[in-house]
Amino acid sequence: MINQYEMVIGLEIHAELKTQSKIYCSCSTQFGSDPNTQCCPICLGLPGTLPILNEKVVEYAIRAGLAMNCSIATKTKQDRKNYFYPDLPKGYQISQYDQPLCYEGYVEIPLKKGTKKIGIQQIHIEEDAGKLIHTKEGTFIDYNRSGVPLIEIVSKPDLSSPQEAKQYLERIRMILLYIGVSDCKMNEGSLRCDINVSVRKKGDIHYGERTEIKNMNSFSYAVKAIEYEAKRQMQVLEEGKTIIKETRRWDEKSQCTVPMRKKEEAEDYRYFPDPDLPYIYISEEQIERIKESLPELPNEKKQRLMSTYDINGDDAELLIANPKIGQFFEETMMYFSNSLMAVNWIMGEGFRLLAEKDKETEIFPFTAMQFAEFLQLIEDETISNSIGKKVFEKMWNAEESPSHIVERYGWKQISNPQELESIIHEVLSQNQKSVEDYLSGKKVASKALMGQVMKKTKGKANPRKANEILKKRLKEKIS
Ligand SMILES: [Zn+2]
Repeated sequence: MINQYEMVIGLEIHAELKTQSKIYCSCSTQFGSDPNTQCCPICLGLPGTLPILNEKVVEYAIRAGLAMNCSIATKTKQDRKNYFYPDLPKGYQISQYDQPLCYEGYVEIPLKKGTKKIGIQQIHIEEDAGKLIHTKEGTFIDYNRSGVPLIEIVSKPDLSSPQEAKQYLERIRMILLYIGVSDCKMNEGSLRCDINVSVRKKGDIHYGERTEIKNMNSFSYAVKAIEYEAKRQMQVLEEGKTIIKETRRWDEKSQCTVPMRKKEEAEDYRYFPDPDLPYIYISEEQIERIKESLPELPNEKKQRLMSTYDINGDDAELLIANPKIGQFFEETMMYFSNSLMAVNWIMGEGFRLLAEKDKETEIFPFTAMQFAEFLQLIEDETISNSIGKKVFEKMWNAEESPSHIVERYGWKQISNPQELESIIHEVLSQNQKSVEDYLSGKKVASKALMGQVMKKTKGKANPRKANEILKKRLKEKIS
């Protein structure tokens, strides 16, 4: 039954902007301060106060808009979205209703095969609400977050699987980090999203009724919530019932979405232009100036890495997702030319040891030049790949250069033919059984013999040369 349906998913992502002060007053936006120490009459919504828009907020939002290929409005306004909740002392949130600052953009997300363009309907600016803290003694309100600037990035319903939604979230996060407008810390709530999900029979051109899952602050929860919710809707339809348009929330404990309330319509909020705030005018020069100040964006960087260093899309993707490592890779390429080899060591042993030893720093404890020296030792067969792993690990703790490490531990590869000849001669005479196996047709026995050679030399035999000699000697025995 599930195969007959397809999912239609749209995301509304809220990102806190990392301006020094709030959107309509000069209170600090610093996270983690004592409750209610960063508030003033304006962000507490006391009567008689007037908001003054923080210019930086507009600039950051335009930065985000341009990075996501949006058009930028040259004249826009701010509206009041009216509703009551204890974390919203004014009784309304200042947002943008029908004239968003940025509109009609897209981002490109990587899929297993190729890429997909996900439409951005709009990006608008708004203020955050306070935070409710529920304890045994009761519920407390912290207004420090009240008036922290947000952008809301609204996608078109172009996503058709939980995996695509995750890729999209990751891409948006990466772009926001690259352009430096948000720190995107999901655990601190500075990036969160609402998910709209509906399902329809494949081939159907009409959208099914949708539900909205509120306030997701983890990528993996988002994936699970979409999976669950889509399946639930398919079952409801299969039973001949209809989907109720409602707001739901993900319950991690029971691993399902549960209803919160009937979904509000726009008219429920009685939006109207905020009479305290004038129109915002943006000049073409201002847009141009911001455009020029944008750094290289993730997709541009990916393309450049692929074409400059001849690496594949998956590797480039990992490098752009870890900007520090990406830079390290590019620095390495200034001293070493085999990009594939560099990438393999970074992605393999590099990431493995990074996860084990240096989770916090996200970068290797040696220079790109030292790394290049290390790669050179392998490439010119001074050390073998397996010894390379040992050297690489030592580089984590030692101040020494890789060549010194090799010297000190006597790990230089044995490539001298005479020396290898005599080792192989010994191995053959000490392992008659394997030799006989080989001669009776069990070709794999040569692997066991090669293993003995490596064991005898503590992994130092040049594998290519040793293998050549071993094969030669074994062949002689056949003839
Ligand atoms: Zn304030």
